[in-house]
Amino acid sequence: ISPEGEGKEKDWNERTEQIAELEWVNNVEYFITKKLCVWCRVGNGQWHLGKIQSSTGEAACVALSNTEVVEVSMKEILPANPEILEGVDDLIQLSYLNEPSVLYNLRIRYSQDLIYSKAGPVLIAVNPFKKVQIYGNEIRSAYQKKALVAPHVYAVADAAFDKMMRGESINHLHDGESGAGKTETAKYAMQYLEALGGGNFGVDNEILKTNCILEAFGNAKTSRNDNSSRFGKLMEIHFNAKGKICGAKLETFSLEQSRVVQLSNGERSYHIFYELCAGASPILKERLNLKEASEYNYLNQSNCLTIDRIDDAQKFHKLMEAFNIVQIPEEYQERAFALLAAVLWLGNVSFEVIDNENHVDVVADEAVTNVAMLMGCNPEELMVVLSTCKLQAGKDCIAKKLTLRQATDMRDSLAKIIYASLFNWLIEQINTSLEVGKLRTGRSISILDIYGFESFKVCNLALVLLVFISFDCVMIQSPLFQNNSFEQFCINYANERLQQHFNRHLFKLEQEEYEGDGIDWTKVEFKDNQECLDLIEKKPIGLVSLLDEESNFPKATDTTFANKLQHHLKSNSCFRGEKRGRGFRINHYAGEVLYDTNGFLEKNRDPLHVDLIQLLSSCKCQLLNLFSSNMHDKSLKPANLSESMNQSVITKFKSQLFKLMNKLEDTTPHFIRCIKPNSNQLPGVYEENHVLQQLRCCGVLEIVRISRSGYHTRMTHQDLATRYGFLLDTKLSQDPLSTSDSIMKQFNLPPEMYQVGYRKIYLRTGQIGLLEERREYVL
Ligand code: ADP
Ligand code: MG
Repeated sequence: ISPEGEGKEKDWNERTEQIAELEWVNNVEYFITKKLCVWCRVGNGQWHLGKIQSSTGEAACVALSNTEVVEVSMKEILPANPEILEGVDDLIQLSYLNEPSVLYNLRIRYSQDLIYSKAGPVLIAVNPFKKVQIYGNEIRSAYQKKALVAPHVYAVADAAFDKMMRGESINHLHDGESGAGKTETAKYAMQYLEALGGGNFGVDNEILKTNCILEAFGNAKTSRNDNSSRFGKLMEIHFNAKGKICGAKLETFSLEQSRVVQLSNGERSYHIFYELCAGASPILKERLNLKEASEYNYLNQSNCLTIDRIDDAQKFHKLMEAFNIVQIPEEYQERAFALLAAVLWLGNVSFEVIDNENHVDVVADEAVTNVAMLMGCNPEELMVVLSTCKLQAGKDCIAKKLTLRQATDMRDSLAKIIYASLFNWLIEQINTSLEVGKLRTGRSISILDIYGFESFKVCNLALVLLVFISFDCVMIQSPLFQNNSFEQFCINYANERLQQHFNRHLFKLEQEEYEGDGIDWTKVEFKDNQECLDLIEKKPIGLVSLLDEESNFPKATDTTFANKLQHHLKSNSCFRGEKRGRGFRINHYAGEVLYDTNGFLEKNRDPLHVDLIQLLSSCKCQLLNLFSSNMHDKSLKPANLSESMNQSVITKFKSQLFKLMNKLEDTTPHFIRCIKPNSNQLPGVYEENHVLQQLRCCGVLEIVRISRSGYHTRMTHQDLATRYGFLLDTKLSQDPLSTSDSIMKQFNLPPEMYQVGYRKIYLRTGQIGLLEERREYVL
C-alpha cells in the first residue's frame, strides 16, 4: 500500500460502526443504570447480546445472555435495540442502526418466513429457497385493495402502479448476488402488474411467457444458482390511460458469451443446448445431425450435463409453445436450432499442427462438414477462415497460417458470435410480438434485473470458480479467476453508477421534503460517490481513459498499466496502488476491492474479426445473413469503420451504461435488494457473515447511513405536543408549533440537533431518546 494510501480512507465498515459508536458513547452510563441490552463482540468475532455490568471507560464487564460474564473493550460494544423493536418491518425504525442489530432483525423475520423487510425506501428480499405462502391471487388482491401493507414485492409493484397512474415513470431495480432471487422477484413484480393491468390487449400473459424463452437462451446452471441469468435485462411495460397493459419492450445487456465455449467444472452452458439435445424430435435430430449432449466438447468439458429435478426434454416442449405464442414462424425456429447445432459442432472442430512453429490446419472431419452444412457455407472456405488470417501488406493481402492457440480462439469467436447474434435476434422477435401498435402513452413501469456488486476474495474457492459476465468477444484465458479482474471491474463500475443514481434520488426526496417544510437543507450532509466515479471516468486521466490508452500501446503489459495507474491516479482518495506488482485497489461505496491488472489489456482490446463477418454474410442461412448485415450496418460502414473497430470493450460498456442511466434519469426508482442467506441454496439457513457481506455490498447499510445523516426523526408538532407537552414548566400554548419550540428550548437540545419546520419537527438520530427518557422519568 502506497504511503499516500495509508490512513487516507477508513474502511467503510469501520466508518459505519464509528458513527453508531459516537452516538451512544455518552449513553453508556444510561445503559448500565437501565440494564439495557448491548451487542458485544467476543473472541470469535461473533456478536452476542448482553448487559453491561460496569465500565472503566476503556472496557466493560458484560453479562451475556448465557449468564457468562466477559470483559470486552468498549470498541467491541454496540447498543442493542429494546425488545419492543424486535423484528420491526422497517430497519429505519430501529433506534440503533448498527450491523449486529440489522442482522439480528432480519434473522428474526427470516425465521418467521417474513422474507421481505424495508430499509427506508428500499425493499429487502431474503431468498427463502422454499415455497412460501405469500403469493397468489388472494394476497395479491389484498395488496391491491391496500388491505395488506406489510413489506412485499406486491406492495412495491402496487405503489409503482399508483405513482405511474399519477404520471410518474417508474423503475424497479433488482440488485443482489447471483442466486439471491432477483429474477424470481422480478417475475413476481411482473405477475402483479399483469394481474393489475391485464386486459383486452392480449399482451399480458405474453410478457411472463417470454421469460421461458429468455431463460432457455440466457440462463445456465452455475455453482451459485441452478438457473442463473447470465445477462442483464430491462423490461419496460407500457400502460394505457385506464391502467391496462398495451405493450412492452425488452432490452438486454452483456450476455456472458464465454460460457458458450468455456465452462468451469460443475457448471453448464446455456440451458437451450441441453434442452435441444434431449427434446428434439427424431426427425429434427436427423436433419441437424444432432447427437447426445455428452458428445459435444463445449458441453462435456465441465462434467455436468444435467440438473437435479429438471427435465430438459420437457423444458424443450415448453419452449416450443412459447415460440408459438411469440409467433416465431416454424421455419425460423428450425433455422435457429440449426445454428445451435452448428455452435455445438464447432466445439468439436479440431486442428492438426503442420510445422514446428505450431501453425495448424483444420482436420477435415464430420465436425467441420456439419458446421458448414448447418451454416450453409462452403466447407473449404470455413476451413480457411478458421486456420488463417489475412494481413494487409501495402496493397496486397496475404494469408498467414494461425497457430493452434489463435485458431482455437478464432473457432471459439465464431461460436460466440453466432450465439450472441441468435440471442439478439430472439430479443428482436420478442419485442416485435410485445409491441402493440402505437399506443404509447408515456405511462410505463420498467423492471431492471441486473447483476450486483462483486468482489472475489482470493481465499474463497466457491467464489473464485465463478466468472459472472463477459462482453463482446472477450476471451477468457482461464476459468479460474484468482482475483478480481476486468469483469468484476465492469460490474462494480456499473453498480457505482446505479448507486449514485439512487443516492441522488434519495437526496432529492429528502430535499423536497425539507424545502416543502421550510427547513434549511444545506445543513444536511450527504456523502456522494462522485470521487470514485471521477476516478473511473474522468478525462483525460481516469481509469477508463488510461486503460484505453494503454490497450492501444503494443508494448504495454499488465505491469506498465499498473504503474501508469499508480502514477496518474494516486492523488484520488478512492485509489491505492500497490508498491510492487500488478494490483490496485478501489474504495467502492460498498467497500475496498483489490483488482489484478492481469488480462485487463487483452480483455479490453476487442478484436473484430472481419474475416468471420465476411464468412457469415456468404452463408446461405438467412438468419446468418441477417446477423452479418446487422453487424455491417452497425460497425462496418466505411465512414465509421475505423472508429468502431477501435472501440474498446470498456468504452462500449460505458456507452451502454450511459444509455441505461439516461433512461433511468427522471424516473422514480424503487430498489429491491435481494439477499442470499446461505451459499448452498438451502431453506432455513441464515449465515450471518454471508448476509452481512451482501448488506454491505448492495449498500443497504449505506442507505441507512444516508438516512441517518439527515434529520432522521420527524414528528408533527401536534404529535410532539401531545406526547411531551406536559413536561413543560410553562403553560401549554394553543399552537403546537410554539409548543415544539418551547420543548426544544427547555430541554436544551443543541441547535444543530434539530430544526423546526412548518408542519414537523426534524431531529437528528438519538435526540428523541433524550426526550423519552425525560418523559419516563416524570411518569
Ligand atoms: P438471481 O436472479 O438473483 O441469480 P434467482 O431469481 O434465479 O436468482 O433465484 C434463485 C433461486 O432461488 C430460484 O431458482 C428459486 O429456487 C429460489 N428463489 C428465489 N426467490 C424466491 C422466492 N421468492 N420464493 C421461493 N424461492 C425463491
Ligand atoms: Mg437472475
